[in-house]
Amino acid sequence: MKIIQNGTLVTPEGEKKASLAIDNGKIVKIGNITPGSDDEVFDASGCLVFPGFIDGHTHLDLPVGGNVTADDFESGTRAAAAGGTTTVVDFATQYKGDTLINALNTWKKKAEGKAHVNYAFHMAICDWNERTKKDIKALRDAGVSSIKVYMAYDTALTDSEILGVLEAVKPFGCIVGCHCENGDVINMRQKQLVESGRTGTDAHPLAHPAEAEAEAVSRFCYLGKLSGCPINIVHLSTALGLEEVRKAKSQGVQVFVESCPQYMILDDSKYELSDFEGAKYVCSPPLRKAKDIYALREAVVNGEIDTIATDHCSFRFDTQKTLGRDNFTKIPNGCPGIEHRPVIMRHIFGDHLSASDYCRLMSENPARVFGMYPRKGALLEGSDADITIWDPDIKWTISAKDMEQNVDYTPFEGMDVKGRPRLVLVNGETAAENGKACDSHYGEYISR
Ligand SMILES: [Zn+2]
Repeated sequence: MKIIQNGTLVTPEGEKKASLAIDNGKIVKIGNITPGSDDEVFDASGCLVFPGFIDGHTHLDLPVGGNVTADDFESGTRAAAAGGTTTVVDFATQYKGDTLINALNTWKKKAEGKAHVNYAFHMAICDWNERTKKDIKALRDAGVSSIKVYMAYDTALTDSEILGVLEAVKPFGCIVGCHCENGDVINMRQKQLVESGRTGTDAHPLAHPAEAEAEAVSRFCYLGKLSGCPINIVHLSTALGLEEVRKAKSQGVQVFVESCPQYMILDDSKYELSDFEGAKYVCSPPLRKAKDIYALREAVVNGEIDTIATDHCSFRFDTQKTLGRDNFTKIPNGCPGIEHRPVIMRHIFGDHLSASDYCRLMSENPARVFGMYPRKGALLEGSDADITIWDPDIKWTISAKDMEQNVDYTPFEGMDVKGRPRLVLVNGETAAENGKACDSHYGEYISR
């Protein structure tokens, strides 16, 4: 057995000083444990012991308009492990003409044998038709319990298609997440801006007004209400959007909310940086205003935000982001973050969040919302031994020079932070030590 001693365990009942024993990839005992001579003992003195963190929104090995993300399942999950994340929920995307099962198998192949952490897939439905509808049962049987739809981009569905998805998946107990931005508004604004000569990165936030998010949040919530299906607002970024969520909740809509660290610490002044540096921060939705940052932080502390994910979607600055040097609409959208989410969240909130609250946002709620609880997301006897032993006192500086993410920058460059995982276990095996990933691949597909 492996035994973790002398740490403070963050359990569903609160923090407690106890030992934890692991056998065969599972947590087998929590309490007073006397190690035997064959046992491997880890001293977690001074550390918080969390159920491994879950990132419910990543894009690894994703092709986007002739480009592929810089991180695949090898480097992306290496980085996840290094930062303390033990499970990622990525997106399998059904392109036009494709079937859901084929899309799922395509993404499973991308990850197989390469994953340092556990992985599951949301299904992004982009071609809603009778055949897709018939496939839902097989998809559910294949372990997929969460669906994603888009209201913008070439992957967008119409409102009636989204309502069709919601009504079709509800009987299967699925949750439907949505990229809530009004695609027509964005397309119109982008065209206007480029035609008027606004081609730089500073035009990017203007093409994605907060109103376009709030309107889409409101519309999606009403579609959720009509269908009775539970819904998830992914990467909520604005105070205005948050207001729409509050309205929906007051009407009894079963709506969950995800946000990401970048929307709580970086603002849209980054798009005004010289030398095309602003391209590093081009993601959708874009970084917002200080008032949005404060509203989201307040919502996190109030418990109005259920999960924190990264929307990790990395493109190299030197060869990929530069495709949009002359036209911001051609910049591949997305930022890296899979490695730094845990420490950035500690950095932003510090003691404003208790260890238990932090655990809920980073582990427990993503496990609950995405159908993995209590196998994941909890330190309980019988749960999988995905464990992050967090040393709250290590001080370090985030830098692209010293990270596992396979990309040439991080939006959090130069931030002085505190806290780092000392040991990260995936299915009971060591996946990372002292912020560095190990070479073995212990990640498995999680059927939900
Ligand atoms: Zn995304």
